[in-house]
Amino acid sequence: MRLFIAAELPEAVLEALAETSGLLRGCIRGRYVSSDSFHITLAFLGDVEGSRVDTVIDALDRGCAGFAPFDISLGDLGSFGKRSKATLWQGLQGAGDLPAIAQSVRASLNTAGIAFDGKAFRAHITLMRAADLREGALPTPALAQGTVERITLFRSDLSGSRPVYDPLHVVCL
Ligand code: ATP
Ligand code: MG
Repeated sequence: MRLFIAAELPEAVLEALAETSGLLRGCIRGRYVSSDSFHITLAFLGDVEGSRVDTVIDALDRGCAGFAPFDISLGDLGSFGKRSKATLWQGLQGAGDLPAIAQSVRASLNTAGIAFDGKAFRAHITLMRAADLREGALPTPALAQGTVERITLFRSDLSGSRPVYDPLHVVCL
C-alpha cells in the first residue's frame, strides 16, 4: 500500500488554504487539491508491504515522542517544477517544530529499516498540481495561524479520479 506521514492542519489554517485555493481557481488552470485533503507531508514512504505497517506505526510513535503541540503560520505561495506544469503550494512563515519532527520521524524510520523519499524536508501545502503558471499573476494568499496537534500515517489510494487519503494511525502530540 502507498503510505505517507503528514501533519494534520488546524481549522483556521484549513479555512485560509481553502480561501487561497478559491482565489487561485479564478486565475490558474490545473488540478486542484480538494479542500478536505490539505496536509504537510513529513515523509513519503511509497509502497510498503502490509506486513510492515506495524513497524511503521511503531517508528512513527517513537519519532514523535517528546514533542508537544506547536504553532504554525501560513506564508507565501511558491512552486516546484516547470512553469507550464507546476506544483503550486503555500509555504509557512513559521514552521514551529515541523522540521525537527520530520527529522526525528525520518531517523526513526531509518532505524526501523523503512525506506522513504530522502529529499530534504521543505514544509509546504500543495494546492495545485499541473498548474499552468505561464500567464496571469498569482493572487495574494490568505494567511492564518494555528496549533498542530496531530501527526498521521496516511494510506494514499490513487485508483480513482482523485487521490483518497485514509488515516491508518494518528499520533496526538
Ligand atoms: P497524485 O499523485 O495523484 O497527484 P498526490 O500527490 O496527492 O496525488 P500521493 O502521490 O500519494 O498523492 O502523495 C501523497 C503525499 O506525499 C502528497 O503530499 C505528495 O506531495 C507527497 N509525495 C508524493 N510523492 C513524493 C515524493 N517522491 N517525495 C516526497 N513527497 C511525496
Ligand atoms: Mg503524487
